[in-house]
Amino acid sequence: MTNVPELFASNVFNQKVMQELLPKETFKALKRTLDEGIPLELEIANQVAHAMKEWAISKGATHYTHWFQPLTGITAEKHDSFISPAQDGGVIMEFSGKELVKGEPDASSFPSGGKRSTFEARGYTVWDPTAYAFVKDHSLCIPTAFCSYTGEALDKKTPLLRSMETLNEQALRILKLFGSKARHVTTTMGPEQEYFLIDEKLWNQRKDLRMTGRTLFGAKPSKGQEMDDQYFAAIKPRIVKYMEELNEELWKLGILSKTEHNEVAPAQHEMAPVFTTSNLAADQNQLTMEIMKKVARRHGMVCLLHEKPFAGVNGSGKHNNWSIATDEGENLFAPGKTPQENAQFLLFLTAVLKAVDENQDLLRICVASAGNDHRLGANEAPPAIVSIYLGDELEAVLKSIKDGTPYDSKSKSKMSIGVDVLPPIPKDSTDRNRTSPFAFTGNRFEFRSVGSALSISGPNTTLNSILAYALKEYADELEKAVDFEKELQNLIKREITAHWRIVFDGNGYDEAWITEAEKRGLLNLKTLPDAMEQYLKPKNVRLYTEMGIYTEPEMESHYDIKLEKYCGILNIEVETMLEMIYKDILPASFSYMRAVGETAANVKNLLPDAKCRAECDILKKLDGLTDELAKKAEELSSTHIRIKKRSGIMEIAQGYAREVIPAMAEARAVADEIEPLLGENYKPFPSYEDLLFKI
Ligand code: ADP
Ligand code: MG
Repeated sequence: MTNVPELFASNVFNQKVMQELLPKETFKALKRTLDEGIPLELEIANQVAHAMKEWAISKGATHYTHWFQPLTGITAEKHDSFISPAQDGGVIMEFSGKELVKGEPDASSFPSGGKRSTFEARGYTVWDPTAYAFVKDHSLCIPTAFCSYTGEALDKKTPLLRSMETLNEQALRILKLFGSKARHVTTTMGPEQEYFLIDEKLWNQRKDLRMTGRTLFGAKPSKGQEMDDQYFAAIKPRIVKYMEELNEELWKLGILSKTEHNEVAPAQHEMAPVFTTSNLAADQNQLTMEIMKKVARRHGMVCLLHEKPFAGVNGSGKHNNWSIATDEGENLFAPGKTPQENAQFLLFLTAVLKAVDENQDLLRICVASAGNDHRLGANEAPPAIVSIYLGDELEAVLKSIKDGTPYDSKSKSKMSIGVDVLPPIPKDSTDRNRTSPFAFTGNRFEFRSVGSALSISGPNTTLNSILAYALKEYADELEKAVDFEKELQNLIKREITAHWRIVFDGNGYDEAWITEAEKRGLLNLKTLPDAMEQYLKPKNVRLYTEMGIYTEPEMESHYDIKLEKYCGILNIEVETMLEMIYKDILPASFSYMRAVGETAANVKNLLPDAKCRAECDILKKLDGLTDELAKKAEELSSTHIRIKKRSGIMEIAQGYAREVIPAMAEARAVADEIEPLLGENYKPFPSYEDLLFKI
């Protein structure tokens, strides 16, 4: 039996370890840095580095690495060993404060969207002491931010930290108006991570899975998810073993892996951790994804984190549970029990309505990826249209404030902010609508559009920034108020009315919602290029620059990077698809056709009267379909070549979205018609049935 408390965080250099291993004065100085952001003196850094190194060696580490999150969305590490040559021809193990605090990886190959030309590609990494160092494999990993010498962020962590700081500032301004004594506000995050597990031997036989992380072909199996027999079902022994090891690995790294269960699709599962501070949650989610993949291999399986590995069954998302709390432990998205707490809650809630309504584009952009585009808009995941679900009780409260009508028909009085107590808001009533992209769930918001493979840094940077911006406008107004209560009441009513269109409690998968949303003037940005066309609008540049999150050049580079990545992924998908058609599917079809043809000829030879109708039927069908497939492949190829010649990254990206993706779908449809006609021994690669049910 695993001793979980003993195991937990055993590979993490956290406060407990620091307190144990550092001299008292050093620990105090470090704590000041952690709590108040005071820069660390070199002498102190040297002592921390020494203690860290000794600790890491005792955990089996021989190397250290600055661990960071470049704009690729995955993590980067370059390992240096602690060894340093000694006089006697041997080595000593060394690690200095300077090496702890700052590193200079060769950054020329990371995407920067033209921010740095490669000849001057010198970024540096700086230690983020608020995220703990840890030992992974044989290396001490030091969480760092990654910046250029001119101070631009080259990573996903720096903007996230900036957004947390900005939100802290603006939220404190509001709290002060309510007489709060809070000194600090932080954002919290709990990402529910979905994933698929499939057999490694089968995975190896599919070029599409190996090259693109998803299946580009595959006829629907005779059984999919229609029996609803997978969600929360008993977990298969092989998967149980996997989950056990995954938990142990995560716990060792101090990751609060809490919930595990089977998800809706066959072979799909989920892990949810206990929430924590956003930057730590982002680091930990990156580690979680890495470890999920690594542990799978040890069990002869492959973990797929792609948003849509299989057509016809659910894809994978990452529900982003988001909240804000004060240093006094008060959750600002919790309705509270007194009129005072309720009024403050209602103001934060109104700010969220405003932030989401005014920045539907930014929310859609921060979850846009080639993979996630397959999911948003398919009837299984939140639609590409952004709206908020509040639950019956809360929606009724806001409606009564907006319309100036009594909250319930029995009471005669109108809801008066700061005077009346909110009715109880049961958590489960708010969680019922699973089709909403943005749902209030009792004491937090659940942003459900995030893709399973995405870094959560981007979405949380966006959430924090847009809320900070809304709070700033409110604070600017309310700080001038003469009669605070009255102006608060007016502001809330006015703002709820102004942003009411973003509230939607109906079925987000319904066709009617698309029409209704259009009537309300809500955006429906179906693809990544459509979304990115909105990114550099003055409104968005103003928001991010004024809040100090991104500079305009940083935003311009995001624009390039996101579009380039999108085109890069689709380019690989098209090439892989064509290869599979010519190397796998057509040859398999021809082999089978030859076998069928030879059979018919043999039968005819022996039985001159035989009709060989079955053989002829199959041959005729396959002859027609292979002909069609070859034609579709040619069309796909020529469309691809044509759009790649366009000038401008947006034009190419739109070419992929509007012309190449439909051409891919057409080719796939024909291939998927061929697959069920082929004999079992002739199929070109493992089928959906193999992949989803043989585990
Ligand atoms: P459900 O599965 O119904 O969505 P869970 O109880 O499994 O709900 O919680 C989902 C996630 O929400 C967990 O990761 C949890 O840590 C997170 N969460 C709960 N409270 C907060 C909060 N205040 N801030 C951020 N995340 C939270
Ligand atoms: Mg949830």
